[in-house]
Amino acid sequence: MDKNFDLKRLNIKAFARDGTRIQGVKELPFFVRLAEISVRLDGPNEPQNAVSWEIEGEMRSLAGGETQIWLHLMAELSLPLQCQRCMGAVEVKVSSNQSFRFVADEASAEAEDDESEEDLLVLTPEVDVWELMEDELIMSVPLVPKHSICPILVPMSVADEAFEEALEARPNPFAALAQLKKKPT
Ligand SMILES: [Zn+2]
Repeated sequence: MDKNFDLKRLNIKAFARDGTRIQGVKELPFFVRLAEISVRLDGPNEPQNAVSWEIEGEMRSLAGGETQIWLHLMAELSLPLQCQRCMGAVEVKVSSNQSFRFVADEASAEAEDDESEEDLLVLTPEVDVWELMEDELIMSVPLVPKHSICPILVPMSVADEAFEEALEARPNPFAALAQLKKKPT
């Protein structure tokens, strides 16, 4: 990716005018809200848990001399979530493919919103594309993640001792709840 672009403060107008297209990979922990939704993986993040993304700017000329500013955004990752059937971790592919049209102000956005199928955003000098990307991915996370077929739990062997210890070291959520209940209100 071109280091000249700061996606936290992207000049969308210039980006669109030049028809720029860039892509990259960003580690999951960078997206704090998205990482919070995922189940915490012990150890380093797997490469597939990083977000692969691509954005493209477009300046569209309409008849009559009007021009539109567009941003096309694609992002995907394999997000570890908690299966709502077996409560184990399940890797779910989360992806987003969205186009945004930038308009001059809030009034234009409201006026045009009814007749537009695309997402309308108000054009600001700097746009936080990372935040936009994270919002889109969060909206694409399934509400009830599940394995298509849940794995059968096998008894842990002695070789898994370290894993077992790690499990025991975790605070028991029910114990924590009981503690909360004990507190005088
Ligand atoms: Zn499951």
